Amino acid sequence: MRYFCCLLITVAMVQSAAAAVRYTITTADDLKSVHVTACFSGDPGDPHPRQLYINSQARSAISRLQWNDRTLPELKSWGPVAINRQQRQGCLEYRAQLTDSGERWGYTSSRYTLTDPKHWLLTPPEGSNAVARFEVPEGVSVSHPWPLADDVTGDGQQWYRLSMTNPHWNSNVAFGYFEIQSIPVDDTYLRLAVLPTRPAANLSTTRKWVRESAQAVLNAHGDLPQSHPQVLVMPVGRQNEAIPFGRVLRGGGIGLQFFIDPNRRLSEYSDDWVPTHEFSHLLLPYINRRDAWLSEGLASYYQNIMRARDGRLSEREAWDKLLAGFERGRQNMTSNRTLAEEASGMSRNRSYRRVYWSGAAMLLLADVELRRRSGGRQTLDSALAGIAECCMDLSKVWRARDMMQRMDEITGTDIFMRIYRQHTRSSNFPAVEDVLTDLGVRERWGRVRLNNEAELADIRRQIMQSPEDRNG
Ligand SMILES: [Zn+2]
Repeated sequence: MRYFCCLLITVAMVQSAAAAVRYTITTADDLKSVHVTACFSGDPGDPHPRQLYINSQARSAISRLQWNDRTLPELKSWGPVAINRQQRQGCLEYRAQLTDSGERWGYTSSRYTLTDPKHWLLTPPEGSNAVARFEVPEGVSVSHPWPLADDVTGDGQQWYRLSMTNPHWNSNVAFGYFEIQSIPVDDTYLRLAVLPTRPAANLSTTRKWVRESAQAVLNAHGDLPQSHPQVLVMPVGRQNEAIPFGRVLRGGGIGLQFFIDPNRRLSEYSDDWVPTHEFSHLLLPYINRRDAWLSEGLASYYQNIMRARDGRLSEREAWDKLLAGFERGRQNMTSNRTLAEEASGMSRNRSYRRVYWSGAAMLLLADVELRRRSGGRQTLDSALAGIAECCMDLSKVWRARDMMQRMDEITGTDIFMRIYRQHTRSSNFPAVEDVLTDLGVRERWGRVRLNNEAELADIRRQIMQSPEDRNG
């Protein structure tokens, strides 16, 4: 992207303050605009950012720009706003019109506004010591992915840490008449917001399926590796599936977003694979989208395994769904491109199924090989436990190759890199037939049968059990 300076602002060098920049974001009564104040401490021991980022859409959204009550010219271009550190401390203020980013279903409401903050927030660069707080009309809450900051002002006000990630990454901030529900999971909690729509989603039902799918991920190695994820649920009217779409956004922190049909029973949400898939993404840090076979492969593999481990699927049903996924992946092999090529152009090539299920097949091969070689001491779960320990920096984007290398280091093997080299350069779907035979998974007349006499039948059963159940 191209950026250039459009405004010079001067900031002081004086003592004090626990954050170099403090934002106060005040929401208008109609939820259609915000007033933003960004105050710079000028603390020489905690230097303020040299520039603030803004994207092209925000140029027209921002008005009444002031520096210490002095009116500044309108933003004429887009790109970073340069901060001159020679002069005094002070505050930058502006008003920003909020444009609803309901996208996809184009959903808007007078009861909430859903935005991407890069469309209205002059954002400091990644790693800046910047915090924000909200002032909202009575009854209004804000759903956002920003992590909690320590008590910045010492008066109990709640501040949130900005600048954890690249300022250009996507994120959701919703202002509206809803409550933020705190859902404990492991030793953290989810920050759930259900957007107020008509017909409305049932809050207690929503809370249950969200909690269940987050809990399911604990069946990998006992931890939810991300703190306080934002969970935003958007009811979008009658749909063919209970949860037709979900995604994880990583701008500013971790945010999950689910689009749901609000007219469904709890059992229909529980039966849907989407939330377990999305929460499984949290077991890995941000993987470059060009290597989506790894992140999507892991989520596709675990969306079935985790539901077997918590009893939502039987062992046979879970294998049935994995095999059906592999078959959909094979049927999506419409070119001679390698998996690496296909993954890097996945949306252009419409090769989602090939990419997702090739990755899932590769991880099955790795999981079985790891269990076989270690006599069950090492598993894909235990490799991910190591990743949770070392590698969950919110701001880093991993190449799949580096992640596979790291998993080899954690497990003391060469399994992941061998599978990486073999399959990312291949234009065939990964061959899983021999391994499935060894596991005792057979398909006949469209129905999966499990053979308990098979050589690796124990491994087959263990894959579908949580580590705790196995130890017990
Ligand atoms: Zn996914």
